[in-house]
Parts: sequence; structure tokens; C-alpha cells
Amino acid sequence: MKWFEKTGVIIFLLGILVFTLVPFLGNYQMSQELVEQNTKEIHQERMAEILSPMYGQSYPSNFAFLGDFNRHFSAYNDSLKSNQLWDQVIWDDYSFALAKASVQSPSKENPWLWLGLSIGLAVLGGFLYNFRQHEEESPGIKNNGIFHSKLKNRGWLGMITGAYLILFYILLYWFPAYLVNLVWMVDPLSRILSGGPASQWFLYGFIYTLAILVMGLRMFRKYRGNKYQQLRTASVMFFQTAFAFLIPEILVLLNQPYFDFKNIWPLDYDFFYDYQLNTFLSSGGVGFFMLIWGILLIIVGVPVFTYFFGKRWYCSWVCGCGGLAETVGDPFRQLSDKSLKAWKYERWIIHGVLVLVNLMTLLTIVNYFSEFALLGNVTNQLHSFYGFAIGSAFAGVVGTGFYPFMGNRVWCRFGCPLAAYLGIVQRFKSRFRITTNGGQCISCGNCSTYCEMGIDVRWYAQRGQNIVRSSCVGCGVCSAVCPRGVLKLENDSEESRFEEFPILIGNDSIKIKS
Ligand code: SF4
Ligand code: SF4
Repeated sequence: MKWFEKTGVIIFLLGILVFTLVPFLGNYQMSQELVEQNTKEIHQERMAEILSPMYGQSYPSNFAFLGDFNRHFSAYNDSLKSNQLWDQVIWDDYSFALAKASVQSPSKENPWLWLGLSIGLAVLGGFLYNFRQHEEESPGIKNNGIFHSKLKNRGWLGMITGAYLILFYILLYWFPAYLVNLVWMVDPLSRILSGGPASQWFLYGFIYTLAILVMGLRMFRKYRGNKYQQLRTASVMFFQTAFAFLIPEILVLLNQPYFDFKNIWPLDYDFFYDYQLNTFLSSGGVGFFMLIWGILLIIVGVPVFTYFFGKRWYCSWVCGCGGLAETVGDPFRQLSDKSLKAWKYERWIIHGVLVLVNLMTLLTIVNYFSEFALLGNVTNQLHSFYGFAIGSAFAGVVGTGFYPFMGNRVWCRFGCPLAAYLGIVQRFKSRFRITTNGGQCISCGNCSTYCEMGIDVRWYAQRGQNIVRSSCVGCGVCSAVCPRGVLKLENDSEESRFEEFPILIGNDSIKIKS
């Protein structure tokens, strides 16, 4: 490692250290005024009474504050639940809003400074580290030394990184009240973009986008000499920054519904939830356009684009999960399991999620149009279950936290219901395939090693068989790392796609008569 890179690593770690410490800074003071400002009108009186023992006290940490808050709040709700007074229970979770309002901390007083000292330093360190990488090498993808790396080959550094990511996701999804100091750092930015205060989701979107941008620049350098890969990287950077981050916030600033125009059901699993439908239908022409746009993408966009280009048009060029996997997750792409067993699990799990989300959505729509007379609260319970198990635990905690353990496409491969839908179209009705020139293959295995979707590409290449697997996201890296030009991503006529009798090499190869 050169001094330039070493400096980058030190600055990056410094930024991460500050980022980790910020949530623990400051102290918390609750008051009746704050309770009234941050709770719904119907709960104001009761919440003010429940939390009255906390007034006037100073809590030195988020643990002390939230411990006391939860004690009082749970005591109230538990007594109602034990007496089966369900309609009086307060189901809303006010811990985040009240913790954010009650804290007095350096990041609340000087948000820009602390943003610079934490995320800013991490970004700067990332830039410095990536700036000179691959500079002295000839163009072409290099993965030198990857299996000796403590980070990239399930070493101790990989374990620590994975554990850190998992912890962050657990806090983000289920205990965001512990992160209010971090949220305060991005509050001014949120007010500029959307006109409103920042939530934990704004913080997440901001970090997510920055991570794709910084690591995207690394990919530009790594993919020197490969225009296809550079263009693909630019595309995911653009769609994440513009469509997933900026446009939805600006829509809110313009008093329109928050909407990501490139997020498609069933990945966007709450698209048909009652509150979403109500928002679309009560937002005039713009809301109606969003509803129609979303439905058109599902029933026309996905099949048509996938027919012409395979699922790569979405998974490798547009999707935010794919964007993160292709940039931040790239150092871990070789960790995907190539075994037949993993392939079997993959098919059962991903199609299971697809069936589940279809069932849930169908029931939701039926219940919505029957004005909840048919199934009552059942669909809400289904939403909670799906949101917890798939939307948070699978897509977030496992999907990203497991990069250093299972590779960068765990979610795309095993969990994403949209990938399953795209995959079915790609498998049965598409012009896309990877053609293999079997006679040229030297069985080096590079293609299989760096296939992030766990496809044993070499197996197909050795037989000269086209690859038409539903899971292939068309990233093209197998083709880019092949030293013999064996693999080619193509969109061609459907007829030649499936080969009953691929050309075999070795003992079973075509015999040339003398
Ligand atoms: S087979 Fe090739 S193009 Fe398809 S996902 Fe694997 S590496 Fe990417
Ligand atoms: S990378 Fe190319 S040469 Fe190596 S095994 Fe794959 S197809 Fe064959």
C-alpha cells in the first residue's frame, strides 16, 4: 500500500470512528411541551401524563433516556393489554421523534461540522484510497491478491465489517431512536431538499447514495478499458442519485407524494398498500400519474424491456440494490456460493418470496376495495410480517450486512421478488443470452469465480452451451474477466437461444472424420 492509500485508509477510519461515536454524545431532557409538539393530537394528553416522571430530569446518554422512556411507555401499554383494552393501547412509536426533540448534542448544534467530521472524512478517505488504485496497471479488470485479503476473503476484517453493517441495519430498522444524533447531522440538508426535518430514512438514503458514488468512482478506475462496465457504473450512480434520492425529496418540497419512479412492485412491496393508494388517489393528477406509471412498469415495462434486453436492464443498470452491490459490494463478489445446493435453495426461497408478496398484495387490494369488511386487520398484520421479515431483515440486514460473508448479491439472488419476476421472463421469453465459444475455453474458472450470482459459468463455457439462467443479472463481469474471449452477452432472436445439443469438448467432443 502506498502512502497515498495509507492516508486514505486512516482518514476513512477516523471518519467511521466519529460516525460511531456521535450517537453517544449529548444529553437528553424531556418536557411536556416537547411531548405535545411531537405526538398526535389524540395521544397528547395521555403521553404527557405517561412521561411526566421524566420531566426535569437530565439523561447523560441515549441508553439512559430510552431505557426510562420505554419503561414508562411499556408499563402503560402493558397494563392496558393485560386488561384487553386494545382500543386504548397506543400503538404509535414515539421514541424516535421524542428522542430527536429531547437531545442536546454537538451534532444538533453544529450539524455541518459533525457531518464533515464523520461522513465527510469517510468520503474523503475513500476518495484518497481509490484515487491512485489501479493507476500504474494496464487497463483491464484486476482482482490481484483478492484471496489473500483479510477483508475480501472472509478474514477477520471481513467479519468485523459484516458485524458493523449488521448492527447498523438493526439499529436503523428497529431502534432508530439510538441514531437521532446522526439524523441531526443531515437535518439541514433535508430541509434544503424537501423542506422538512430529516428522518432515519433520509440519513440512510444519503449514506447509501454517497457510498454508491464513492465506490462507483473506484469502479471507473477498476474498469478502465471497458466502456460497457463504465457506462453501467455511471448508470447505477445516476439512477440512485437522481431517481432514488433527489427527485423523491424534491417532490415532497413541491407538496407532492414521495415517489421513486424507478422502484417497481413487488420490490416496492407497499405500492398497493391502502395508505399508498389513498395518497395517490388524493394527490390529483400527479398522484394518478404515479399510480398509472407504477402499474405500467409492472405489466408493460418489465416484460417488454426484459424481452429485448434480459433482466440486466434493471438489475445491473437501474436498481439501487444492484447499484450498491456493483459498487460497495464489488470487493466481495467472489464469495457467492457456486454449489448446486445453493442454486436449489435460491430457487425455492426467491420464488417463495414472490408467491408471498403476490398473495399479500392480492389480499390487500381485495380488502381495500371491500373497505376492510372482508379481512379486517388481517392485511395489516401481513404487512407487518412482510415488512419485518423480508423488507427489513432479509433485504437490509442480510442483503447488505452479509456482503462480506456470502457475496454482494445475497438479496438479489435469494430474496428479491422483482428479480424473480424478471428472471421468469428472462428464462422463458427473452432475446438475451450469454453465448459461449467452448473450443476456446481453457477452464481457468475466472468467470465462475467472479460471477456474483453464483452461476458456474465455466460449466456452460466448457460445453459451449448458451447461458439462459433466470438469475443472471447480465453484469457482464464473467465476460470481462475471461482471458480467451469465450463469453459474449447478446440480444438475438429467440430461436437460437436454447441449445438441445451444445458442442462438447474433451472426450465427448465432435469427432472429426479423417
Ligand atoms: S453469468 Fe456473467 S453476466 Fe450473468 S451474473 Fe454471472 S457474471 Fe454476471
Ligand atoms: S473465464 Fe473464459 S477461459 Fe476461463 S473458464 Fe471461463 S470461459 Fe473458460
